[in-house]
Amino acid sequence: MKERIEFLRSELNKYSYNYYVLDNPIISDYEYDKLYKELEELEKQNPQLITPDSPTQRVGGISSGFEEVKHKYRVYSLDNTYNYEELRKWYEKITKEFGNNVELVCELKIDGLAIALAYKNGVFVQGATRGNGITGEEITQNLKTIKAIPLRLFENVDVEVRGEIYMPKTSFEKLNEENILKGEKPFANPRNAAAGSLRQLDSAITAKRDLSMFTYTPIIEKASFKPLTHWDGIQYVKKLGFKINPNIRLVQNIDGAIDFCKEWELKRQELNYATDGVVIKVNNLAYQNELGYTSRAPKWATAFKFPPEEISTKLLDIEIGIGKTGAVTPVAVLEPVNLAGSIVSRASLHNFDEIKRLDVRIGDRVFIKKAAEIIPKVVKVCESANHNELPIYKVQKNCPACGEPFKEIEGEVNLYCLNPNCPDVLKAKLEYWVSKEAMDIDSVGPSVISKLYDLGLVKAPIDFYRLTISDFLKLDLVKEKSATNMFNAIQESKNKPLSRFITALSIRHVGKETAELLTNEFSSIEELKKASYEDFAKIDGIGDKIAKNIYEFFHNEINIKTINEFKELGFSFEQKSLKISDELAGKTFVLTGTLNSMTRDEAGDIIKSKGGKTSSSVSKKTSFIIAGENPGSKLDKGKDLGVIILTEDDFLKMTGLRS
Ligand code: NAD
Repeated sequence: MKERIEFLRSELNKYSYNYYVLDNPIISDYEYDKLYKELEELEKQNPQLITPDSPTQRVGGISSGFEEVKHKYRVYSLDNTYNYEELRKWYEKITKEFGNNVELVCELKIDGLAIALAYKNGVFVQGATRGNGITGEEITQNLKTIKAIPLRLFENVDVEVRGEIYMPKTSFEKLNEENILKGEKPFANPRNAAAGSLRQLDSAITAKRDLSMFTYTPIIEKASFKPLTHWDGIQYVKKLGFKINPNIRLVQNIDGAIDFCKEWELKRQELNYATDGVVIKVNNLAYQNELGYTSRAPKWATAFKFPPEEISTKLLDIEIGIGKTGAVTPVAVLEPVNLAGSIVSRASLHNFDEIKRLDVRIGDRVFIKKAAEIIPKVVKVCESANHNELPIYKVQKNCPACGEPFKEIEGEVNLYCLNPNCPDVLKAKLEYWVSKEAMDIDSVGPSVISKLYDLGLVKAPIDFYRLTISDFLKLDLVKEKSATNMFNAIQESKNKPLSRFITALSIRHVGKETAELLTNEFSSIEELKKASYEDFAKIDGIGDKIAKNIYEFFHNEINIKTINEFKELGFSFEQKSLKISDELAGKTFVLTGTLNSMTRDEAGDIIKSKGGKTSSSVSKKTSFIIAGENPGSKLDKGKDLGVIILTEDDFLKMTGLRS
C-alpha cells in the first residue's frame, strides 16, 4: 500500500513537471486524473500516509525565472469528476446543509492558464500566475500585452479577478505551422501554447502571440456595489470592462447543471477555444463562505470534465491504406483503447511526412485524438525511455496490394498508387460509390463488395448495375430476401440526383459539397461535358486546381464512355431543383452555430428554394452569415471580412417565415 502510494506520488509529480514546467505533457489529462483519483482514495483510507508534498495536498504550478509574489487571496484548483453520479453526490452534500434547490452557476471550463489580476482605483497594478496557490509568478508586463485585459476599468474600484488566459484554436494552429516551418517543436495543445507564450521573459514575444482571457472569479474589495451572488458579481465585473465567457447559465438545481454539461459536451467543438469541461459553482456567496475550502479546492464548486478527446496507447503496427484516388494513407494499428465512448484500434497517420515529423516508431506509446473528424488521428509520441531503441520507420516504396511503386504528384504531400487496376483502389472506389455521401446504398457494405470483387463479379461501379439476383446468391450466407433487397437498392439508385452521381464518380478533390456547387450551375451531364475550364473556375468555392480536375474528367474519352454506359443502363441524371423563386438569386449564405427552429440543412433548402446558394466556407463573395447559437470561427472570419451577419430571426424575417 505504502509503496503504491509512493509510486503514484512520484509518477504524478513527474507528469506535473512535464505538464506545468516543460509545457509538454507525456500522458493525457484523463489518465493523469485516473491516477490522481487512485492516490486520493488510498490516502483517504490511510490518512497517516499523507505527506504535505503529495499532489493531493497542493495546487500544481509553474516556476521559471519570474519574480515570486504572494497572492493576497489564495488561488485554488478545482475538484473534478467525469461522471454525473458523483456530481449529484456533490450537490446532495450541499442541499443537506442549505435545503433543496440551491442555485448553481454553470460556466465552461476554459482549458488555459489561471491568473490573478489586481486593480487599484480602477487601474491594473499586478498580474500573477496561480503558481502553488500561495505564491505565483509576477508577469504583469506580459499580461499588459493582452488586449482582453483592461488596463483601466470603467469605475475607480479595487478588485481582484481570476481568469483563464487562452489561445484561440485557429491562432494555435497558425503558430504551430510557423514553428514547424522554422524547424521548432510544435506545441502539444492550445493550453501549452498559451502557457509557453505567457511565460516568455521577453514580453515583446508574448505581444506577438494571440492570447485572450475570460474572467470568471471576481473579488470585490472597494466598489459602489457589493454582490451577494456569484452571478451578480460576474455581471458587475462585465460592466467594469472584463471579458466574460457568454456561455454561462444560472440554473435552479443539479438537473439544470447536468443539462448544461450534456449540451456542451456536443457543442464544444464549434468553439474557437479549448474547453475541457464545465465548472459548477454555488451561486449564493454566503453559502460559498460557509462551505469553504479543502487544502487545494473550494467545496462550493466542482468541475465536470468532458470525456477525453485525447488518450495514449501503444502503436502495434503501421498498415498502408489506399484510397479511392490511389492516395496512400499510413494507418496506425493500436492496442484497443476507449476514446470518447468508443473503442479505437486504428488511427490515421495522414502521410509518410507526418510519420517522419512525429518520429513515430512501431512499439511507441502515442497520443491519439478525436477532433472534429470521426477518424481519430495520432498526434504525438509520448516520451519514453525506449523510443530511441526502436527502429526508425522505413517508408514503403511499393503498393502492398498491386506491387506498383508509389508515385509523387506535384503539389501533394501524399504518395499515390496510380495503377488503375490496383485491387485496393478499385475496392475503395466501389465502397465510396455505395457510401452515405455518394449513392447511399446501405444494404451493400464493404464485406459484400469484397466478396463480389473476389468472385470477379464487380470491378467498377458500373458492374453493380449489371448484377442479377442470382449473382448475389453466389455469395456466402446470402439468402433470397437479402439478395433481392440489394438488387432493388442498386437499381433504385439510378434515380438519385445528379449531384450524388457526380460525388460517386470519385473525381479528385470533388466531394459532395463541390458536386452540389456544380449542379447549382449545370443541370445535366451534357452541360458539364460542354463547359469550359473557365466555366468551372468562376464558380464561387471551386479553385483553379479543382476546376482543372473537373474539366479533365469530363473531357476524358474513357470517362465519357462510362457515363454513356450508365445512361444506357437507365440512369436519369436528374437534379430536381428546389428552386421556386428568385428572391435570393446571386446571394451566398454561410451557416454557423445551432438554429432553434430548424436544422442547418433545412435552412439551406429554404435558401436554395429562393434561388440563393449556400457555402461551407466564408470568403469575400459571401453575402450573409447566419449565426445561430454558439457560432464557430466562421463568424469571426466573416466579421473580419465585413460580411453581413444575420441572426436566425433576421433570416426568418428575410425569407418571410416570420413577420
Ligand atoms: P484543473 O485544470 O482541472 O481545474 C482548475 C482550473 O480550472 C482553475 O485553476 C482554472 O485555471 C481553471 N478554470 C477554467 N475555467 C474556469 C472557470 N470558469 N471557473 C473556475 N476555474 C476555471 O486543475 P489544475 O489544478 O489547473 O490542474 C490539474 C489538472 O491538470 C489535472 O486534473 C489534469 O487534468 C491536468 N494535468 C495533467 C497532467 C498531464 O500530464 N496530462 C499533469 C498535471 C496536471
